[in-house]
Amino acid sequence: MNNKITSHGTDVPSTNKTKRIAIYGKGGIGKSTIVSNIAAAYSQDHNVLVIGCDPKADTTRTLYGNRLPTVLNVLKEKRQATVDDVVFEGYNQVMCVESGGPEPGVGCAGRGVIVAMNLLEKLEVFSEDLDVIIYDVLGDVVCGGFAVPLREDFADEVYIVTSGEYMALYAANNICKGIKKLKGNLGGIICNCKGIENEEEIVRQFAQQVESKVIGVIPRSELVQKSEIEAKTVLEKFPESKQAEFYRKLADDVFHNEEFTVPHPMDIEEFEEFFRGFH
Ligand code: ADP
Ligand code: MG
Repeated sequence: MNNKITSHGTDVPSTNKTKRIAIYGKGGIGKSTIVSNIAAAYSQDHNVLVIGCDPKADTTRTLYGNRLPTVLNVLKEKRQATVDDVVFEGYNQVMCVESGGPEPGVGCAGRGVIVAMNLLEKLEVFSEDLDVIIYDVLGDVVCGGFAVPLREDFADEVYIVTSGEYMALYAANNICKGIKKLKGNLGGIICNCKGIENEEEIVRQFAQQVESKVIGVIPRSELVQKSEIEAKTVLEKFPESKQAEFYRKLADDVFHNEEFTVPHPMDIEEFEEFFRGFH
């Protein structure tokens, strides 16, 4: 059992099994924004570790207030890295790690994930008193490295972020194929709205098609950019806003989710037909 003193000064008990979540989705769809904001929400009552697995290495920027050195870069300088070299404390004591990736055009994009996970295991970071671990994983690249959080049993549940756009859903469907292959647990689809027509409905029907559900809907909001400029989460910069409330509700719904499925991805013809149905 692990108790964290919250900012309100009360002890909130939490379960002793670490909740290990992986958030997948197309590049630019809003994964890092969602991961950092739900991490900020969990940090009120829980010990949280966020692991950015995207070569962009910007998952934790709004939690830490700046870009972090990545595991790959640290290891280039130093063979014997310590916990303090790669794990950084951000907003409300959220622990932050960025795996990093190779220079563009050189090597395998997913290698950083493999290297980071091996190092974190060696440094026994996972045996810390953690309540929640969140992995932020790029999903539009078909690469073994990005499958690591699932394949190697680092994460127990997966959520996919998508909008109602063709490419985002296409990537989401591909991610479903990966999850199915790895016999992963899909906890739901998160709709991060781009503001297109019938967006929620499209995403709901997509979720139904792949035999999952929409677990949260995040509207588009300029508060996201306003917070991002200051390298803060919406929860930190605009804690009283409606947008912050949407992230808190998502965090809560993910935390209490008990419905998981092995998804049924569409084949390419089914996907085309599905998408045409809305236009
Ligand atoms: P990813 O991690 O999937 O690559 P990001 O979280 O970095 O995507 O988001 C990409 C861009 O979209 C960012 O500039 C972010 O500010 C913006 N964004 C994400 N979610 C929203 C939202 N709900 N409303 C407005 N802008 C958003
Ligand atoms: Mg990102």
